Order: sequence, then structure tokens, then C-alpha cells
Amino acid sequence: MPHHIELVLDAKAELGEGAIWDDARALLYWVDIVGCSAHVYDPASNSDRAIDIGELVGTVVPRASGGLMLALEHGFAHLELPSGKLDRICDPERGVSTNRFNDGKCDPAGRFWAGTMGKAGSGRLYCLFPDLTAKVMLEGVTTSNGIAWDLDAKTMYYIDTPTQKVDAFDYDLDTGAISNRRTVVTVPGDMGHPDGMTVDAEGKLWVAHWDGWHVHRWDPKGGELMESIPVPAARATSCAFGGPDLDELYITTARAGIDDSALGEQPHAGGLFRARPGVRGVEAFAFAG
Ligand code: CA
Repeated sequence: MPHHIELVLDAKAELGEGAIWDDARALLYWVDIVGCSAHVYDPASNSDRAIDIGELVGTVVPRASGGLMLALEHGFAHLELPSGKLDRICDPERGVSTNRFNDGKCDPAGRFWAGTMGKAGSGRLYCLFPDLTAKVMLEGVTTSNGIAWDLDAKTMYYIDTPTQKVDAFDYDLDTGAISNRRTVVTVPGDMGHPDGMTVDAEGKLWVAHWDGWHVHRWDPKGGELMESIPVPAARATSCAFGGPDLDELYITTARAGIDDSALGEQPHAGGLFRARPGVRGVEAFAFAG
């Protein structure tokens, strides 16, 4: 049965990304990486606040002590709300001008994982611990992207986009240590490229496919494609369950790199979309620091 999908915000974002639902406040945070902005979308009023950050914004997560955490072109920062004041925390790749931070999320213990991207193999996956120290957790990454944890937090799922794979690691929730990397999903080349990712209440993975016109549900246990949600934009970038019952799937998209004639086929590229996939998500985690 085809899934209904609605455009909730015709944002025309260059590179909409990083969707995450704040269950306590009933707000959706997202970013426009190239537009250098963090966004707070309130579905109750259908209003969106764009906060200009002044540099590339890779991703956003809520902070338990208030405001938001950002992974930026130049490192980790705290964004105070409602003031919009930016406080820089650390820049672990100071001096690597060709890299910038990209996607990231918090683990169930409130550690903020985010990775960088740049020249092939030059990126790294970092973990910002609640004491505000950042550590390199993985090297040799090209385009660090979707990250999610299984419901029991014993497995971490991770996407380095050009690999066309979702990989899994054994996860030690006490320490944040990862080990035993293996591939759990391989995405065929004609389905676009795996980008952002979230987990549902059944432990299945929802992956936004860049240049794939879809968000797909994959089973990390057997690697099978389970369901597909068509998106009226080629560049689906991230997805997050939200709404009062966590049964709505918010989807960000991009219009960057799509020429004017091709935009005629996808006039709402860069918009924020919402689907009802018939399954619930789980609450996202806030940064504990
Ligand atoms: Ca991404």
C-alpha cells in the first residue's frame, strides 16, 4: 500500500538534514547545512524558527541541561535557546580545513556522536562525552552519516555513505567503546546512497536515500528491504520519528546540486515532509553534558 506523505514545510533548504524529535517539548529540530542554519519546527503552530549560525551546521541534538548541541564546520558548540547565543566547546579538527562535521546523534547514555567528512578516508567519527571532551572513535571515514543504536543499546549502526553500507558495531554502553565492525545492510547502487538513519520500536532501520527518492526500512538482522516510502524529492537526507505517539516520520530533503530544469520535477525539494509509516519510533536521546 502506498504511504501517504505530506509536505509540512516548503523550506526550500539547500541541504536540509539532521531531523530529531524533542519528545519533552514536542518540537522537531533540523538543520540546513549549506544554509548555515539550525531550525526549530513546532508542528502545533506549523511554524519554523531558523537560527543563523554563520558556518556549516552538520547536525543538532537537544541538550538535557537546556538548549541544543551542534556539530559545526568548526567543531562542537552549544546553542542557547531562546536567545540563539552560540558557545563553542571544542574543534577536534582545527587545522583540517577540508573537513567539516556532518551527521550525528546521542547514544542512550547521552554521549554525542558525530563524524566529519572531506577527502576520501580523511574523516573521523568522534564522541563528545558529557564532560565535554571529544575522542576519536573511528578513523578512515569519508562521509560520516547516519548513526543509531539498537533498542538494547548493545549494537551501534553506522553509515559512511560511499561504502553503500550500514555497518554494525558491538556497543559498550558503560564506556562508549565500539568493536567487532561488520556489515548488516548493503544498498544497491540503483537505490541511491544511504544518508541519515533512525531506528523504530521494532529495532528496524529507516534510512534516507540520497538521490534515491525514498526512505527505506531495512532489517539489520537479515539485511532485507522491508518497506519503502516514496519522497517527492530525489535527495532524501534524514528521518526521525515524532509526534505525540512517535508514529509520524519526519523527512528532510535537499535541493543543493539540482539544476533548475530538474527542480521542475521536484519543486518542493528542500522541504520538510511527514509520513505515517504504520510503526512507532523510539524517543531520541539528549546530550547529557
Ligand atoms: Ca547526511
